Amino acid sequence: MSEAGSERKVGNPLWLLAELTYRCPLHCVYCSNPVDYTRYGAELSTDEWVRVLREARALGCAQLGFSGGEPLLRDDLEALVQEAHRLGYYTNLITSGVGLNERRIAALKAGGLDHIQLSFQDSTRELNDFLSHTRTFDLKYRMAQLIKAHGYPMVLNVVLHRQNIDHVEQILEMAEKLGAEYVELANTQYYGWAFVNRDHLLPSREQLERAEAATQRFREKVGDRMRIYFVVPDYYANRPKACMNGWGSVFVCVCPDGVVLPCHEARGLPGLTFPSVREASLQWIWYESPAFNRYRGEGWMKAPCRSCPERVKDFGGCRCQAYLLTGDPANADPVCDLSPYHRVVTEAVARAQRPTAAARPILFRDDRNARALSEAQAPLAQ
Ligand code: SF4
Ligand code: SF4
Repeated sequence: MSEAGSERKVGNPLWLLAELTYRCPLHCVYCSNPVDYTRYGAELSTDEWVRVLREARALGCAQLGFSGGEPLLRDDLEALVQEAHRLGYYTNLITSGVGLNERRIAALKAGGLDHIQLSFQDSTRELNDFLSHTRTFDLKYRMAQLIKAHGYPMVLNVVLHRQNIDHVEQILEMAEKLGAEYVELANTQYYGWAFVNRDHLLPSREQLERAEAATQRFREKVGDRMRIYFVVPDYYANRPKACMNGWGSVFVCVCPDGVVLPCHEARGLPGLTFPSVREASLQWIWYESPAFNRYRGEGWMKAPCRSCPERVKDFGGCRCQAYLLTGDPANADPVCDLSPYHRVVTEAVARAQRPTAAARPILFRDDRNARALSEAQAPLAQ
């Protein structure tokens, strides 16, 4: 084990994210999948996924998210859900709803799926369909009703950004009409495609404050009938979040091609080789691999984190954000106002207060754009 990893006892993972595929019928402008997803290898087979589920459960994972891309594009989703249920996981399907139907939801329910989280892009058909570059609003609406009809709690997720944040009240009214018990209004985090499109997506401070106030009014109106989570964008904070509760601490993500990550954005970090479940056991990857030990503990930290009392709470923030915005993943997350690079965040925020025409058109997440971005290896933000 590395020096950094040996500083504290490494606990077992609790939460497995199974990214079953990068394929998706939607083309969301803020998708968190890698911008070069077309470069990666063949998807794991059913047998390989079953092995991953067993190994992760044996390591101690108890929560399992089936995600993607769109996990419903895998014909073996029902079989994987069944196996996960048999192993004793609490399972969650994270889906756009495209590919769901009466027959599949009945099979998923019978297989023991615990939870379905459905995403909408907006409360209006026009914007939902624009942001996903597909005509999916009506379908999503029907899928929400289907999920409810099968006895699942209604859990809606809407990613917020400058294009839709002024619709928060209408989004919450839609959620109420659909009988939602939980709504997650997650402001965009600027990684992946959202980072490429940041100058189109980062809201102004005024928009953010209006949306928070509207959310609070709605909470007071609906009381306990609906739980509403409002996740503030990092860029408007002055301290970073404890990303993943610390690198390699509780969360493990297995990518469609079997590569294992401590956070679903980490694949692009320099100088690290993330092992695949095709060549190593999950146990070795979690406890022993150099990549998982690289940012454990505190030995890797630079100033100002190294001597900061808050390092035990936030672990210096997000390594991926530090790399994207400063070029060095060992720097403090520049969201922190103690970081010498904090101005890269405040400059982006300042631009969002007086948006002019962005330097490049909005890029939808699709294979053509993914190939162009990987070939050009262009800097990904203005
Ligand atoms: S964010 Fe949109 S494009 Fe990306 S995986 Fe989810 S539904 Fe598909
Ligand atoms: S300096 Fe580092 S440890 Fe201290 S608050 Fe900022 S990011 Fe956290």
